[in-house]
Amino acid sequence: MSWTKQSVCKMCRREGVKLYRKGVRCETAKCAITRRNYQPGQHSWTRGKPSEYGTGLREKQKCKRYYGVLERQFRRYFFLANRMTGNTGANLLSLLERRLDSAVYQLGLAPSRRAARLLVAHGHVLVNGRRCSAASRLVRVGDRLGVLSREKTRKIVGNALEVRKGHVAPAWLSFDETKVEGAVTALPRREDVTFEVQEQLIVELMSK
Ligand code: SF4
Repeated sequence: MSWTKQSVCKMCRREGVKLYRKGVRCETAKCAITRRNYQPGQHSWTRGKPSEYGTGLREKQKCKRYYGVLERQFRRYFFLANRMTGNTGANLLSLLERRLDSAVYQLGLAPSRRAARLLVAHGHVLVNGRRCSAASRLVRVGDRLGVLSREKTRKIVGNALEVRKGHVAPAWLSFDETKVEGAVTALPRREDVTFEVQEQLIVELMSK
């Protein structure tokens, strides 16, 4: 992914919400949304009311950026969500939450989703005792998520746990801090997603 540090905060300002892509900084007064919560760009105020298409598109972009997935992958999740029973929007969010990098972040093993993705990609994460470097892997009920017992890994994860002290894993995950191991106890439901997104608008946009 080629997003620069600067463009990451611009993304939040463009979407008007915190996308939590910089870890600790996102919770401090240095966060760009706290300091400058308006659209970036010199002529941003001249932009008129967005169209129905524009609103749906913004919701989709916001969702893609929050989970750090690109268009093609996002379309694949939508395709899968559409084929599942139940509400397509809720299914879509559930699939995104089930990504391995997202689950690792939700367990508190990394300070941001971006950091969680790197942790997985660099082979520090174990799924059911085996190394897994595919951040897009969808976790299932019963999966055990852990980290390598190497000193380097323990140090990285230890720092993240320190930074995210007080974080509580969502109801669909359980976490044993002494063993630094988590488990998937259920599939994520809509109410487990705290991110502000109108998934119905995404469904309407992508169903056209
Ligand atoms: Fe930047 Fe994080 Fe604030 Fe977004 S939430 S503007 S990534 S510091």
